[in-house]
Amino acid sequence: MIFTSSKDIIVIAGIPGVGKTTVLEEAIKIAKEKGKEYKLVNFGDIMFEIAKSEGLVNHRDEMRKLDPKTQKDIQRTAAKKISSMASERNIIVDTHITIKTPRGYLPGLPLWVLEELEPTQIILIEATPEEIYTRRKRDETRNRDIESLESIHFHQSYNRYVAASYSMVSGATVNRVINREGKILQAVRDLVELLM
Ligand code: ATP
Ligand code: AMP
Ligand code: MG
Repeated sequence: MIFTSSKDIIVIAGIPGVGKTTVLEEAIKIAKEKGKEYKLVNFGDIMFEIAKSEGLVNHRDEMRKLDPKTQKDIQRTAAKKISSMASERNIIVDTHITIKTPRGYLPGLPLWVLEELEPTQIILIEATPEEIYTRRKRDETRNRDIESLESIHFHQSYNRYVAASYSMVSGATVNRVINREGKILQAVRDLVELLM
């Protein structure tokens, strides 16, 4: 399989509560000021629209509890939708390397999703397990899973291995941005540098 498209799709990923959406929303504005415009697409938003319209869930945090086959069906439809947006402009996708489900870690970018998106860059947002644990606890806008520090650590490490496998298959480069506690602007600056 050879990925040949000229469209530019960048994947931003990191485990729940690490701060992807917060950092990205700022980074997109600064990148635009510096002359590089991206459309920001949240993969979870697109999946939620589909899942909600099919009466499967009422809240975005219920999706990862659906049976894996249903999640994969919605995921595939969402990937096609995002891919169709990319013919016109550069896109940044806010998503996950893997999703922690009751049945195990589900790949966020299995082969059929990589084939649709053809990402050129994968950027991992990371923080310490302690920081992630606290951010999840503080954030009342979401129904985040309560997880031990050990489990958060495992998920973040596992994502690095899986990102490597996506890189091998797609040719996408992999980078990492650290989102330190109270240092959102530093993370935004580091991310913008990778987007220019
Ligand atoms: P999800 O994958 O579940 O969508 P996310 O990675 O997009 O999560 P956010 O929703 O952006 O995470 O952030 C989670 C919480 O952490 C928010 O309340 C946000 O304000 C806070 N936060 C993000 N970055 C930092 C930081 N550097 N320092 C302190 N708090 C932060
Ligand atoms: P988020 O707001 O990024 O946490 O996304 C909401 C939910 O969407 C996640 O908890 C997952 O259930 C789902 N989701 C997001 N990206 C993907 C993906 N690439 N593959 C499968 N599910 C995803
Ligand atoms: Mg988010």
